[in-house]
Amino acid sequence: MDDGLTSALPAGRPLWQRLMTEAITRPAELLAALNLDPALPALDAERLRDFPIRVPRGFVARMRPGDPADPLFLQVWPSAREAEVVPGYSTDAVGDLDKLKGGGLIHKYAGRALAITTGACAINCRYCFRRHFPYGDALASRGHWRATLDELDADPSIEEVILSGGDPLALTDDKLAELVAALDARPWIRRLRLHTRIPVVLPERVDARLLGWLAATRLQKVVVLHINHEREIDDAVIRACAQLRDAGATLLNQAVLLRGINDSADAQARLSERCFAAGVLPYYLFVLDRVAGAAHFDVSDSQATALMQALAARLPGYLVPRLVREIAGRASKTPLPW
Ligand SMILES: *Cc1c(COP(=O)(O)O)cnc(C)c1O
Ligand code: SF4
Repeated sequence: MDDGLTSALPAGRPLWQRLMTEAITRPAELLAALNLDPALPALDAERLRDFPIRVPRGFVARMRPGDPADPLFLQVWPSAREAEVVPGYSTDAVGDLDKLKGGGLIHKYAGRALAITTGACAINCRYCFRRHFPYGDALASRGHWRATLDELDADPSIEEVILSGGDPLALTDDKLAELVAALDARPWIRRLRLHTRIPVVLPERVDARLLGWLAATRLQKVVVLHINHEREIDDAVIRACAQLRDAGATLLNQAVLLRGINDSADAQARLSERCFAAGVLPYYLFVLDRVAGAAHFDVSDSQATALMQALAARLPGYLVPRLVREIAGRASKTPLPW
Protein backbone atom coordinates (compact mmCIF):
# COMPACT_ATOMS: atom_id res chain seq x y z
CA MET A 1 0.00 0.00 0.00
CA ASP A 2 1.34 3.43 -0.84
CA ASP A 3 -0.17 5.73 1.75
CA GLY A 4 2.29 8.52 1.07
CA LEU A 5 3.59 8.24 4.63
CA THR A 6 6.43 5.83 4.08
CA SER A 7 7.68 6.71 0.61
CA ALA A 8 10.67 8.76 1.78
CA LEU A 9 11.93 6.05 4.14
CA PRO A 10 14.67 3.53 3.48
CA ALA A 11 13.48 0.22 2.09
CA GLY A 12 14.17 -3.07 3.81
CA ARG A 13 13.46 -4.68 7.11
CA PRO A 14 13.30 -2.25 10.01
CA LEU A 15 15.81 -2.63 12.85
CA TRP A 16 13.12 -3.40 15.43
CA GLN A 17 12.00 -6.52 13.55
CA ARG A 18 15.51 -7.90 13.67
CA LEU A 19 15.75 -7.08 17.38
CA MET A 20 12.44 -8.91 17.98
CA THR A 21 13.84 -12.08 16.42
CA GLU A 22 17.07 -11.75 18.40
CA ALA A 23 15.26 -11.80 21.76
CA ILE A 24 16.37 -14.29 24.40
CA THR A 25 14.07 -17.32 24.29
CA ARG A 26 15.85 -19.89 26.47
CA PRO A 27 16.06 -19.78 30.28
CA ALA A 28 19.71 -20.92 30.29
CA GLU A 29 20.64 -18.07 27.99
CA LEU A 30 19.03 -15.50 30.26
CA LEU A 31 20.76 -16.90 33.34
CA ALA A 32 24.11 -16.87 31.54
CA ALA A 33 23.62 -13.29 30.32
CA LEU A 34 23.00 -12.19 33.91
CA ASN A 35 25.63 -14.31 35.55
CA LEU A 36 23.00 -16.14 37.59
CA ASP A 37 23.08 -19.65 39.00
CA PRO A 38 22.25 -22.07 36.14
CA ALA A 39 20.41 -24.23 38.70
CA LEU A 40 17.77 -21.57 39.51
CA PRO A 41 14.51 -23.58 39.45
CA ALA A 42 12.66 -22.98 36.18
CA LEU A 43 9.31 -24.11 34.86
CA ASP A 44 9.51 -27.49 33.14
CA ALA A 45 10.11 -27.48 29.39
CA GLU A 46 6.68 -28.83 28.52
CA ARG A 47 4.77 -26.07 30.29
CA LEU A 48 7.25 -23.52 29.06
CA ARG A 49 6.33 -24.39 25.48
CA ASP A 50 2.81 -23.02 26.03
CA PHE A 51 4.14 -19.63 27.17
CA PRO A 52 7.82 -19.42 26.33
CA ILE A 53 10.36 -17.09 27.79
CA ARG A 54 10.91 -14.03 25.60
CA VAL A 55 12.88 -10.92 26.46
CA PRO A 56 14.62 -8.38 24.22
CA ARG A 57 18.36 -8.05 24.82
CA GLY A 58 18.07 -4.32 25.42
CA PHE A 59 15.70 -5.01 28.31
CA VAL A 60 18.06 -7.63 29.75
CA ALA A 61 20.77 -4.95 29.69
CA ARG A 62 18.68 -2.96 32.21
CA MET A 63 18.74 -5.86 34.70
CA ARG A 64 21.32 -6.09 37.48
CA PRO A 65 23.70 -8.99 36.81
CA GLY A 66 24.01 -11.48 39.63
CA ASP A 67 20.74 -10.46 41.34
CA PRO A 68 18.00 -13.13 41.20
CA ALA A 69 15.62 -10.66 42.92
CA ASP A 70 16.05 -7.97 40.26
CA PRO A 71 12.58 -6.48 39.62
CA LEU A 72 12.96 -6.61 35.84
CA PHE A 73 14.28 -10.17 35.86
CA LEU A 74 11.42 -11.40 38.05
CA GLN A 75 8.86 -10.16 35.50
CA VAL A 76 10.20 -12.45 32.78
CA TRP A 77 11.70 -15.40 34.67
CA PRO A 78 9.59 -18.58 34.29
CA SER A 79 9.81 -19.70 37.90
CA ALA A 80 9.05 -23.31 38.81
CA ARG A 81 6.26 -21.85 40.96
CA GLU A 82 4.18 -21.26 37.83
CA ALA A 83 3.32 -24.96 37.95
CA GLU A 84 1.56 -24.57 41.33
CA VAL A 85 -2.19 -25.08 41.09
CA VAL A 86 -3.91 -22.47 43.23
CA PRO A 87 -7.70 -22.39 43.76
CA GLY A 88 -9.33 -19.31 42.22
CA TYR A 89 -6.74 -18.93 39.47
CA SER A 90 -8.06 -19.76 35.98
CA THR A 91 -7.19 -19.45 32.31
CA ASP A 92 -9.75 -16.71 31.48
CA ALA A 93 -9.41 -14.56 34.57
CA VAL A 94 -11.23 -11.49 33.25
CA GLY A 95 -14.08 -13.09 31.30
CA ASP A 96 -12.97 -11.72 27.93
CA LEU A 97 -13.77 -14.86 25.97
CA ASP A 98 -17.50 -14.38 26.51
CA LYS A 99 -17.33 -10.91 25.05
CA LEU A 100 -15.18 -11.54 22.03
CA LYS A 101 -16.86 -10.93 18.69
CA GLY A 102 -15.84 -12.24 15.28
CA GLY A 103 -13.64 -9.29 14.32
CA GLY A 104 -11.40 -9.67 17.37
CA LEU A 105 -13.29 -6.82 19.04
CA ILE A 106 -14.21 -6.78 22.74
CA HIS A 107 -16.91 -4.23 23.46
CA LYS A 108 -17.40 -4.26 27.24
CA TYR A 109 -17.47 -0.55 28.05
CA ALA A 110 -19.51 2.35 26.68
CA GLY A 111 -18.05 4.33 23.81
CA ARG A 112 -14.89 2.31 23.41
CA ALA A 113 -13.99 -1.09 22.08
CA LEU A 114 -10.79 -3.05 22.34
CA ALA A 115 -9.35 -4.90 19.36
CA ILE A 116 -7.22 -8.00 19.86
CA THR A 117 -4.91 -7.24 16.96
CA THR A 118 -2.22 -9.88 17.38
CA GLY A 119 -1.05 -12.53 19.82
CA ALA A 120 2.57 -11.46 19.47
CA CYS A 121 4.53 -9.51 22.09
CA ALA A 122 8.14 -8.39 22.25
CA ILE A 123 8.35 -9.72 25.80
CA ASN A 124 6.50 -12.40 27.69
CA CYS A 125 5.51 -11.15 31.13
CA ARG A 126 4.95 -14.08 33.43
CA TYR A 127 1.96 -12.47 35.21
CA CYS A 128 0.17 -11.72 31.92
CA PHE A 129 -3.60 -12.17 32.13
CA ARG A 130 -3.69 -13.13 28.45
CA ARG A 131 -1.06 -15.84 28.78
CA HIS A 132 -3.65 -18.52 28.03
CA PHE A 133 -5.61 -16.56 25.44
CA PRO A 134 -6.54 -18.57 22.34
CA TYR A 135 -5.36 -15.87 19.93
CA GLY A 136 -5.54 -18.12 16.91
CA ASP A 137 -9.32 -17.86 16.90
CA ALA A 138 -9.77 -14.13 17.01
CA LEU A 139 -7.35 -11.69 15.51
CA ALA A 140 -8.65 -8.34 14.35
CA SER A 141 -5.83 -7.86 11.84
CA ARG A 142 -6.92 -10.77 9.63
CA GLY A 143 -8.21 -10.06 6.11
CA HIS A 144 -7.27 -6.37 6.02
CA TRP A 145 -9.24 -5.73 9.24
CA ARG A 146 -12.50 -6.37 7.36
CA ALA A 147 -14.47 -8.04 10.16
CA THR A 148 -13.35 -5.43 12.69
CA LEU A 149 -14.33 -2.55 10.43
CA ASP A 150 -17.71 -4.19 9.77
CA GLU A 151 -18.35 -4.32 13.51
CA LEU A 152 -17.37 -0.68 13.94
CA ASP A 153 -19.66 0.30 11.06
CA ALA A 154 -22.53 -1.51 12.77
CA ASP A 155 -22.12 0.45 16.02
CA PRO A 156 -21.39 4.18 15.71
CA SER A 157 -21.54 4.52 19.52
CA ILE A 158 -17.90 3.33 19.48
CA GLU A 159 -15.93 6.58 19.34
CA GLU A 160 -12.65 5.20 20.63
CA VAL A 161 -10.82 2.20 19.23
CA ILE A 162 -8.24 0.60 21.48
CA LEU A 163 -5.57 -1.50 19.82
CA SER A 164 -4.46 -4.23 22.16
CA GLY A 165 -3.19 -7.78 21.87
CA GLY A 166 -0.68 -9.18 22.53
CA ASP A 167 1.03 -5.96 21.61
CA PRO A 168 -0.32 -3.99 18.64
CA LEU A 169 3.12 -2.55 17.90
CA ALA A 170 4.30 -6.07 17.09
CA LEU A 171 2.37 -5.59 13.82
CA THR A 172 4.08 -4.00 10.82
CA ASP A 173 3.58 -0.34 10.10
CA ASP A 174 1.91 -1.17 6.77
CA LYS A 175 -0.71 -3.15 8.62
CA LEU A 176 -1.25 -0.50 11.29
CA ALA A 177 -1.28 2.39 8.82
CA GLU A 178 -3.94 0.54 6.81
CA LEU A 179 -6.21 0.28 9.86
CA VAL A 180 -5.60 3.83 11.00
CA ALA A 181 -6.43 5.15 7.53
CA ALA A 182 -9.71 3.20 7.64
CA LEU A 183 -10.56 4.53 11.11
CA ASP A 184 -9.63 8.03 10.00
CA ALA A 185 -12.24 7.78 7.24
CA ARG A 186 -15.05 7.05 9.74
CA PRO A 187 -16.07 10.43 11.08
CA TRP A 188 -17.74 9.16 14.28
CA ILE A 189 -14.46 7.67 15.48
CA ARG A 190 -12.57 10.28 17.47
CA ARG A 191 -9.85 8.55 19.38
CA LEU A 192 -7.23 5.94 18.73
CA ARG A 193 -5.69 4.28 21.74
CA LEU A 194 -2.71 1.91 21.80
CA HIS A 195 -2.14 -0.42 24.73
CA THR A 196 1.51 -1.30 24.30
CA ARG A 197 4.59 -2.30 26.25
CA ILE A 198 6.89 -2.24 23.22
CA PRO A 199 8.12 1.41 23.48
CA VAL A 200 9.40 0.38 26.92
CA VAL A 201 10.93 -3.01 26.23
CA LEU A 202 12.02 -2.30 22.63
CA PRO A 203 12.21 1.50 22.20
CA GLU A 204 13.79 1.02 18.75
CA ARG A 205 10.22 0.27 17.59
CA VAL A 206 9.45 3.99 17.80
CA ASP A 207 11.00 4.79 14.43
CA ALA A 208 10.23 7.17 11.57
CA ARG A 209 7.70 4.82 9.98
CA LEU A 210 5.64 4.49 13.12
CA LEU A 211 5.81 8.20 13.88
CA GLY A 212 4.78 8.90 10.28
CA TRP A 213 1.35 7.25 10.42
CA LEU A 214 0.80 8.29 14.02
CA ALA A 215 1.39 11.97 13.33
CA ALA A 216 -0.65 11.87 10.11
CA THR A 217 -4.02 10.78 11.50
CA ARG A 218 -6.67 13.30 12.54
CA LEU A 219 -7.68 10.98 15.40
CA GLN A 220 -6.76 11.98 18.93
CA LYS A 221 -4.10 9.62 20.13
CA VAL A 222 -3.55 8.04 23.49
CA VAL A 223 -0.70 5.63 24.13
CA VAL A 224 -1.12 3.63 27.31
CA LEU A 225 2.25 2.19 28.20
CA HIS A 226 2.91 -0.62 30.64
CA ILE A 227 5.79 0.07 33.02
CA ASN A 228 6.03 -1.64 36.39
CA HIS A 229 9.33 -0.41 37.75
CA GLU A 230 11.34 2.81 37.45
CA ARG A 231 14.39 0.93 36.19
CA GLU A 232 12.53 -0.02 33.02
CA ILE A 233 12.87 3.60 31.93
CA ASP A 234 16.28 4.29 30.45
CA ASP A 235 17.47 7.05 28.09
CA ALA A 236 16.23 5.22 24.99
CA VAL A 237 12.75 4.91 26.52
CA ILE A 238 12.76 8.61 27.41
CA ARG A 239 13.64 9.45 23.78
CA ALA A 240 10.89 7.17 22.45
CA CYS A 241 8.33 8.78 24.77
CA ALA A 242 9.36 12.27 23.65
CA GLN A 243 8.93 11.26 20.02
CA LEU A 244 5.49 9.79 20.64
CA ARG A 245 4.46 13.01 22.34
CA ASP A 246 5.85 15.08 19.49
CA ALA A 247 3.64 13.00 17.17
CA GLY A 248 0.65 14.18 19.19
CA ALA A 249 0.06 11.31 21.60
CA THR A 250 -0.98 11.65 25.23
CA LEU A 251 1.05 9.15 27.25
CA LEU A 252 -0.35 7.22 30.21
CA ASN A 253 0.94 4.28 32.20
CA GLN A 254 -0.78 1.22 33.52
CA ALA A 255 1.12 -1.01 35.88
CA VAL A 256 0.37 -4.27 37.64
CA LEU A 257 0.98 -4.56 41.37
CA LEU A 258 3.45 -7.44 41.68
CA ARG A 259 4.81 -9.08 44.79
CA GLY A 260 8.54 -8.59 45.23
CA ILE A 261 8.69 -6.24 42.22
CA ASN A 262 6.81 -3.02 42.93
CA ASP A 263 4.78 -3.76 46.08
CA SER A 264 6.02 -0.88 48.23
CA ALA A 265 5.03 2.78 48.42
CA ASP A 266 8.63 3.61 47.73
CA ALA A 267 8.78 1.59 44.50
CA GLN A 268 5.46 3.07 43.32
CA ALA A 269 6.49 6.64 44.15
CA ARG A 270 9.73 6.25 42.20
CA LEU A 271 7.81 4.73 39.30
CA SER A 272 5.35 7.64 39.18
CA GLU A 273 8.11 10.23 39.40
CA ARG A 274 10.21 8.57 36.73
CA CYS A 275 7.18 8.17 34.43
CA PHE A 276 6.30 11.83 34.82
CA ALA A 277 9.88 12.85 34.06
CA ALA A 278 9.45 10.94 30.79
CA GLY A 279 6.15 12.73 30.05
CA VAL A 280 3.96 9.79 31.10
CA LEU A 281 1.11 10.16 33.60
CA PRO A 282 0.18 7.29 35.92
CA TYR A 283 -3.25 5.92 34.99
CA TYR A 284 -4.12 2.53 36.46
CA LEU A 285 -2.44 0.30 38.99
CA PHE A 286 -4.04 -3.12 38.52
CA VAL A 287 -4.24 -5.72 41.21
CA LEU A 288 -3.20 -9.03 39.74
CA ASP A 289 -5.72 -10.85 37.58
CA ARG A 290 -6.13 -14.35 38.91
CA VAL A 291 -4.56 -16.14 36.00
CA ALA A 292 -3.25 -19.67 36.39
CA GLY A 293 0.53 -19.68 36.89
CA ALA A 294 0.75 -16.17 38.37
CA ALA A 295 -0.32 -16.74 41.99
CA HIS A 296 3.21 -16.13 43.31
CA PHE A 297 2.92 -12.47 42.16
CA ASP A 298 -0.22 -11.77 44.17
CA VAL A 299 -0.38 -8.88 46.65
CA SER A 300 -3.25 -8.93 49.15
CA ASP A 301 -5.95 -6.25 48.96
CA SER A 302 -5.08 -5.06 52.45
CA GLN A 303 -1.43 -4.58 51.49
CA ALA A 304 -2.49 -2.84 48.27
CA THR A 305 -4.76 -0.36 50.03
CA ALA A 306 -2.17 0.37 52.73
CA LEU A 307 0.34 1.02 49.96
CA MET A 308 -2.06 3.49 48.28
CA GLN A 309 -2.52 5.42 51.51
CA ALA A 310 1.24 5.74 51.93
CA LEU A 311 1.65 6.71 48.29
CA ALA A 312 -1.05 9.39 48.38
CA ALA A 313 0.55 10.83 51.51
CA ARG A 314 3.76 11.57 49.67
CA LEU A 315 2.87 12.42 46.05
CA PRO A 316 0.81 15.09 44.30
CA GLY A 317 -2.60 13.72 43.33
CA TYR A 318 -1.80 13.57 39.63
CA LEU A 319 1.03 11.12 40.32
CA VAL A 320 -1.19 8.68 42.20
CA PRO A 321 -2.55 5.95 39.89
CA ARG A 322 -6.04 4.54 40.33
CA LEU A 323 -5.93 1.17 42.07
CA VAL A 324 -8.35 -1.02 40.13
CA ARG A 325 -9.42 -4.57 39.54
CA GLU A 326 -10.89 -6.07 36.42
CA ILE A 327 -14.16 -7.84 37.29
CA ALA A 328 -16.06 -9.69 34.57
CA GLY A 329 -19.45 -8.18 33.80
CA ARG A 330 -18.80 -4.67 35.19
CA ALA A 331 -19.25 -1.49 33.12
CA SER A 332 -15.74 -0.26 33.93
CA LYS A 333 -12.65 -1.23 35.87
CA THR A 334 -13.52 -1.45 39.55
CA PRO A 335 -11.71 0.92 41.94
CA LEU A 336 -10.53 -0.55 45.24
CA PRO A 337 -11.47 1.85 48.02
CA TRP A 338 -8.63 2.90 50.26
C1 LIG B 1 -9.63 -2.13 30.16
C2 LIG B 1 -10.49 -2.19 28.96
C3 LIG B 1 -10.84 -1.03 28.27
C4 LIG B 1 -10.33 0.34 28.66
O1 LIG B 1 -10.87 0.78 29.83
P1 LIG B 1 -10.57 2.29 30.28
O2 LIG B 1 -11.15 2.39 31.63
O3 LIG B 1 -11.20 3.18 29.28
O4 LIG B 1 -9.08 2.44 30.25
C5 LIG B 1 -11.69 -1.14 27.20
N1 LIG B 1 -12.17 -2.33 26.79
C6 LIG B 1 -11.84 -3.47 27.43
C7 LIG B 1 -12.41 -4.74 26.94
C8 LIG B 1 -10.98 -3.44 28.52
O5 LIG B 1 -10.64 -4.59 29.12
S1 SF4 C 1 3.47 -7.18 26.92
FE1 SF4 C 1 1.40 -7.11 27.77
S2 SF4 C 1 0.23 -8.63 26.58
FE2 SF4 C 1 2.43 -9.03 26.24
S3 SF4 C 1 2.98 -10.57 27.77
FE3 SF4 C 1 3.45 -8.56 28.67
S4 SF4 C 1 1.59 -8.03 29.82
FE4 SF4 C 1 1.04 -9.68 28.40
